[in-house]
Formats: sequence, C-alpha cells, structure tokens
Amino acid sequence: KLRRGTRGFVPPIRSNGGNTVTSRASAPKGDDALDDSTKRCMEALCGPDGEIPEKLKNLEPRLIEHISNEIMDSGTKVCWDDIAGLHHAKKCVTEMVIWPLLRPDIFKGCRSPGRGLLLFGPPGTGKTMIGKAIAGECNATFFYISASSLTSKWIGEGEKLVRALFAVASCREPAVIFVDEIDSLLSQRKSDGEHESSRRLKTQFLIEMEGFDSGSEQILLIGATNRPHELDEAARRRLTKRLYIPLPSAEARAWIVRNLLNKDGLFKLSTEDIDTICKLTDGYSGSDMKNLVKDASMGPLREALRQGTEITKLKKEDMRPVNLQDFEDALQEVRPSVSPNELGNYEEWNNKFGSLS
Ligand code: ADP
Repeated sequence: KLRRGTRGFVPPIRSNGGNTVTSRASAPKGDDALDDSTKRCMEALCGPDGEIPEKLKNLEPRLIEHISNEIMDSGTKVCWDDIAGLHHAKKCVTEMVIWPLLRPDIFKGCRSPGRGLLLFGPPGTGKTMIGKAIAGECNATFFYISASSLTSKWIGEGEKLVRALFAVASCREPAVIFVDEIDSLLSQRKSDGEHESSRRLKTQFLIEMEGFDSGSEQILLIGATNRPHELDEAARRRLTKRLYIPLPSAEARAWIVRNLLNKDGLFKLSTEDIDTICKLTDGYSGSDMKNLVKDASMGPLREALRQGTEITKLKKEDMRPVNLQDFEDALQEVRPSVSPNELGNYEEWNNKFGSLS
C-alpha cells in the first residue's frame, strides 16, 4: 500500500525497530508519523492529559497496536450461566479471583490473593470460557494469547511482545491475561536442550509475572494447559492456584444440549431422549458436545433434502424438530476427542499439585 508523502513502499505494519513511543501519541509528524490505526490505539491508552503512560514509553507502537487489535478481546462476553457444570471451579474462582478484583481494598495483607491461576484439564472443557467469564464478572479487560504463537509467529520478538503485553494490561486494569497452552512457554525441558530464544522468552515472562505479583496492579494471569505435567517448578510456584477443569458430567452434557438447541428454538427432545444422549456421550468434552449438537441439528435438513426438496425452496417451518435418531447418527461422526487413559494423568497431577479446596 502506497501512502502519500512517503518515499515508496510502506508495509502495512512498520518494522521500524527504533520507532518507539516517546511522548504524545499524535505528536510525531513527517516520516515518523504513526498511521491512523496505530495512532488510535495509542490515543486509547493515553491518560486524561493526552500523555502516553510512562510504562508504554520505549515500546514499539506496532506491538501496542497488535496487542490492542488482536490480543485484547472485545468480542462477545461470557457469563457464569453460559458455562455448564464446573460448580467447584466456579466457587473457587469467585472467592480467589473475582472478589479480590472487585474489592482490592479488602483483599490486601493476609488476604492478598495470588495473581496467577492455572486451569488444567482436557481440551474443550471450558477453560477459555472461564477466563472470559472472570473478565466479564469483574468488568476487566481480557487479553488472550496463545503461548505457542509467541514461539512460532513471533520468533525472536516474543520477549518484546510479552513486555508490551504486560505494560498495556497495566494501563487497562483490572485486566485478565489469559495464556493458552502455557506449557509451551513454561515447560520443564532440559535447559541444554532449550533454544536460547525460548529460554529468554521464558525468563522475560517470569520476570513480568514477578513484577506484577509484588506490585499493586490489578492484573490476573490465567494459564491454561492440557499438559500440566510439562510445567516446571518455577511455573507451578507462580501459578499459585491450580484448578482441574474436568470433562463435563452427564448433567452438564444434558445442559449443553438443551441450551444450544433452545437458543435456536429447536429443542423438542423428551427427558428419556436426553438421558439416552447422556449415556451415549460418556467421555465427550464440552466442545465435542457442541460439535455433536451441530451435526445432529443438520439431521432434519439432510432428511428434507433426501426426500427431494430443493434447498432454495425449503421452508424452515416444514422441517421436523431434531430427534434422538439425529443424535444417534451424529454420534457416528463426532467421536470423543479425549482418550480415557489421558484422564488418569490429569487426576494424578491434580492430586499432587492441584488446589483441591
Ligand atoms: P478449552 O479452553 O478448555 O480448550 P473452551 O473454553 O475454548 O475450551 O471451549 C470450547 C467450546 O466448547 C466453547 O466455546 C463451548 O461452546 C464449548 N464448551 C466447553 N466446555 C463447556 C462448558 N462447560 N459449558 C458450556 N460449553 C462448553
């Protein structure tokens, strides 16, 4: 994209290593001018006086822009009631995370909370949903980053991005930083087998955590992992609360089916049908259940098309409701994504390192 007043091609994201934030977001002119979108991100982080906060000075504007646009979440809010089951986790999280974020004046001294929470368990069980719900319940800004993207997409720049992430979060407190696949960042691989760059990234991350843990900032770090046994001792020490997020119970699976179908006005199953679906879905994760419902809800449509109705002529009101047979068919397509022998490992780790109360 060519821009007026510049001498040739300008990449959409400036890779100007030296172009760091100095004072006012809108001040630089000429070749140093920030493009409009970067400027908007910077202005959103300025104090009432229009000054860039001290913490953001010397950070590259393009990193701040990336964090504001890609990592800071402005998507749909999740609330506790959207999450099936997990009563134990919800109770623990409310006490150790939500209350302290809502009443920092009470939760200090002896009551001061840990700033690191680990959610571990099989994939697709609602860990990310819990992170978003925490942010939603406390009106906190939610930052989501996948740790593997730090090592793959941001090769050599991960440290800078981590530094910028914590700095932006502290300008947006209360803030929840959710680090998915945190094991890929804080694993206990042998140090001599570790790449120098991933070792530096890990160190930077631990430094940042140390920094806000001792400070008064209202930032909560949530790490999520399907591989808790790969976390090293330093990571465990900083993630003081460790909650096991297990596969959904039969009751929670029933709730997911009912809730998803109800949303579309498609729920017509009997209690016996629901019981049968629950029996047949033992070992399915929340996300497997969602995929199952999606597939089953295609049943009536597929049947109408099989009977010769054209898709363009199909009337919604002529389609029959989703029935048990649709679920039985869908069960052939959607298999559980977690193998039963993996579960033992989670339970073992939970007994050793998990926060059981
Ligand atoms: P994780 O972070 O544990 O891998 P997610 O929170 O991203 O899993 O869940 C993926 C999807 O699966 C969610 O968007 C939701 O539709 C569904 N899901 C998983 N667990 C639950 C749950 N306990 N209640 C309701 N929906 C769930």
